[in-house]
Amino acid sequence: MAEKDSQLMEKIVALCKRRGFVFPSSEIYGGFAAVYDLGPYGVELANALKREWWKYMVQMREDIVGLDSAIFMHPKIWEASGHVGGFSDPLAECKACHTRVRADHLLEEIGVVADEKMSETEINALFDEHRQNIVCPKCGKKDFGTVKKFNLLVQSNLGNFTGDTSVEPVYLRGETCQGIYVNYKNVLDSTRVRVPFGIAQVGKAFRNEITARQFIFRTREFEQMEMQYFTHPDNEMTEYEKLRAYRWQFYLDLGMKEENLRWHKHENLVFYAKEAYDIEYQFPFGFKELEGIHARGDYDLTQHSKFSGVALEYLDPQTNEKYVPHIIESSVGVGRMLLAFLTEAYVEEAMENGEMRTVLKLPKKLAPVKIAVFPLMKNKPELVAKAQEVFQALKSEWLCEFDDNGNVGKRYRRQDEIGTPYCVTVDFDTIGAGDPSPDGAEAGDAPLTGTVTVRDRDTMQQERVPIVELKQYFQEKL
Ligand code: ATP
Repeated sequence: MAEKDSQLMEKIVALCKRRGFVFPSSEIYGGFAAVYDLGPYGVELANALKREWWKYMVQMREDIVGLDSAIFMHPKIWEASGHVGGFSDPLAECKACHTRVRADHLLEEIGVVADEKMSETEINALFDEHRQNIVCPKCGKKDFGTVKKFNLLVQSNLGNFTGDTSVEPVYLRGETCQGIYVNYKNVLDSTRVRVPFGIAQVGKAFRNEITARQFIFRTREFEQMEMQYFTHPDNEMTEYEKLRAYRWQFYLDLGMKEENLRWHKHENLVFYAKEAYDIEYQFPFGFKELEGIHARGDYDLTQHSKFSGVALEYLDPQTNEKYVPHIIESSVGVGRMLLAFLTEAYVEEAMENGEMRTVLKLPKKLAPVKIAVFPLMKNKPELVAKAQEVFQALKSEWLCEFDDNGNVGKRYRRQDEIGTPYCVTVDFDTIGAGDPSPDGAEAGDAPLTGTVTVRDRDTMQQERVPIVELKQYFQEKL
């Protein structure tokens, strides 16, 4: 089983690099900590995940609309949200080698329950209690200093042309949902939505994360998919339960095994929160947060109303009741979801000939490339020409790849590793005399005649399909 493989993480990281899913940022300059770039297949997989999320959260819902707010926002927003004052993680620094680590993570590693929301006093007390067991992951010494809270907001100098330090800094957004809250009134005034309704958004967020570990699980620049749902105060918890069930189903519908998912209830809630659960996924390094689903009360709109001076109450057109809507949210990182689906899909298995193959058994709708088209041999122009015809005919419908490098076995291995569900091979039977075209045309000169082999990624079975029927065949399969 993949999840029992202690090398699984290293194997996934290696596959991501080798096959063009994820590259370390700025690699030729020695890399840039906790930032990654998506390669050709990574961007396809990420786009597919975002497409599925959007379909589930916007297209299929009559009560949710989309938004794309800017990364830069008025600095007051981050004061109102509490980020300037309280968006911080507990930082512990090893006195011997100066490695900085999150104190709550160090405690968790030795089995002590802790989280980033604890106050500086609380986490220091806990840290001191267990100090004798806390080991630096880099140098192995047990010599950490006092834990300090470190603010995660990333600052910019946007608009500050004179370098004036008294000017309030403009931040790169630490989460995308603030852009939703401050547009709540615009959406309400410009569309036909009525409470209860949601606003969904996908976009970049930035955090000065202390610990740069675990590949794309935690990065300093990342993309979030967030949906904020505005409800009547009395309905907040029923809507919350519905959202939890809906989000759980999203993962099952995309083929995740339920045994790899679990709920984590937050015990240490921020003062305004009603309830908070995470969906955790069994990553190669254990069950960790994949998505947060939180009931936030009226905190967000109340704060923005207070700081902006603009009333953000809702007037019910039917009952004339006026109230500040309560908010429930779903929030998940694209990179974290991508890592979860790669973990779920990664399989090593023995083939009939005894050789091993690595295959990404991604759901077809997530596969970066849907169909690969090969001429059996590279040095036979008639095979290459025919394979090109097939490729050209299919590529307007699906993302296809043409490959004539190496032998067919090697091409299969490569497509297996990037998760391509189907490989089409043009061979001598396709163009041969044994397979004349219906109108009796010369071998190879009439487009879209003959048959090809179609090989299934998961079963490795091949079947012959007439070229004229290929589109319909794939329409049914994909
Ligand atoms: P964590 O406890 O892992 O730091 P969090 O509780 O601070 O996460 P939220 O602020 O609730 O996370 O963010 C919502 C979602 O955004 C997370 O569930 C995760 O999928 C994603 N996310 C948050 N921070 C990061 C990050 N640094 N890198 C990648 N994804 C992230």
